Amino acid sequence: MTRVLSGSAVAKEIRAGVTAAAERLSAEGREPHLAVVVATADESTAAYVRSIGGAARKCGIRCSVVDLGPDATSIRIRSELEALSADPAVHGIILQTPLPPSADFDTLASAIDPAKDVDGANPLSLGLLAARLPAFAPATAEAVMVLLDHYEVPLSGANAVVVGRSTVVGKPAALLLLNRDATVSVCHRRTTDLAAHTLNADVVVVAAGQPGLLTGKHVGANTVVVDVGTNVEADGSLIGDVDFASVDGVAAALTPVPGGVGPVTTALLLQHTITSASR
Ligand code: ADP
Repeated sequence: MTRVLSGSAVAKEIRAGVTAAAERLSAEGREPHLAVVVATADESTAAYVRSIGGAARKCGIRCSVVDLGPDATSIRIRSELEALSADPAVHGIILQTPLPPSADFDTLASAIDPAKDVDGANPLSLGLLAARLPAFAPATAEAVMVLLDHYEVPLSGANAVVVGRSTVVGKPAALLLLNRDATVSVCHRRTTDLAAHTLNADVVVVAAGQPGLLTGKHVGANTVVVDVGTNVEADGSLIGDVDFASVDGVAAALTPVPGGVGPVTTALLLQHTITSASR
């Protein structure tokens, strides 16, 4: 029997703490404020940003969407990030992807003040994380850890495989697992035999943006699978990177999509904003 590790209850618990803290801060005249910078006309991005805004407001966090439009130049985006970084009334800044083709995410994210970098997007935050210094981890990577901890999955000495090496998910997830004394392998597009790695793993984190990448053939009876994939199907529905039906019944545990890592990620973005506003 494969245990389904839901993120919804975990997210609810985090949001309850956020709501209480937001109320306290607002009473002190420090209303927590999250700014999301958008430079795309993509509808699924707009829906995601609306969901962050809705979740923030429900918890008592002000959320401003700064929509620069799909033709925004790098200079314009950078100056907005600098202005928000300098604004004492703003506590959290998210630079939403995708960006216009001419804009480089990592370069622009370096304009976000690390103290307000609630989604760990500034490459400096990744460096701080690697050095085990205080920094905001990318919320998705941290959500993986929060889920594993919530369901008491042992990490010290465990074999962990991260599939995907992106700066926003794969790499930080690998660092966070390493910081918890897991033995970490990172697989990617050029990995020749994915199953050889994952079959040996206690924990597999899949963040490749490839629907159906991980199947029942890739996992053993003791494997815990965390599916970070968020792929939008033609009909608008969301599916992960894991072939749920084929892994279900084989692995020990599996996070669902939707309802797994996603809700925890959003809750952590809000929690990070509270942490920033509390300083
Ligand atoms: P995300 O933002 O979800 O992390 P990206 O598109 O930025 O996704 O990165 C995708 C990552 O997934 C890359 O590191 C790539 O090497 C990895 N990847 C893509 N396809 C495969 C595959 N078939 N097997 C293993 N890793 C893959």
